[in-house]
Amino acid sequence: MKMSKDGWLTGVRRLKSPNFDARPAHAAIDLLVIHNISLPPDEFGGDGVIEFFTNTLDCTAHPYYAQLDGVKVSAHFFIRRDGSVMQFVSCLDRAWHAGVSQWQGRERCNDFSIGIELEGSDFVAFTDEQYAALKLLTKKIKQAYPIRASVGHSDIAPERKTDPGPFFDWPRYLDPK
Ligand SMILES: [Zn+2]
Repeated sequence: MKMSKDGWLTGVRRLKSPNFDARPAHAAIDLLVIHNISLPPDEFGGDGVIEFFTNTLDCTAHPYYAQLDGVKVSAHFFIRRDGSVMQFVSCLDRAWHAGVSQWQGRERCNDFSIGIELEGSDFVAFTDEQYAALKLLTKKIKQAYPIRASVGHSDIAPERKTDPGPFFDWPRYLDPK
């Protein structure tokens, strides 16, 4: 696993999302944003998230999906329950994961962040494999970009978002071991 100059990580599955655009000129890539997601909510292992991020989700396939019709989002990375990592957007480009957000007085966190989605929810623990993969991914990203902090989606959009939720173990993630 290594970050290429084009912002794609070698050794992980690539599924290109159309939901991205260019970062503003001269934007530093200096923040990691951790999320959780599962589609349908609280169901793991299906292709819902992948389909959602690639605009191929059948919005009639589940009652919850009706509200996702036409919604265009993405993240740079998705880590499944088994620890496998997928990349949807080059780190050099702006993925659409944070929405209206602010970090240390800087708005529009998508401009300067990398978004990592963990397959999960606010109601269950993440897996050992996910922590291992997230730590390795974080290390590889930090080797390539001047990351100053890792924060939760709920830290940068507290009025709207609760993820990665109470089960995300920040000390475990941030422990360099
Ligand atoms: Zn989120």
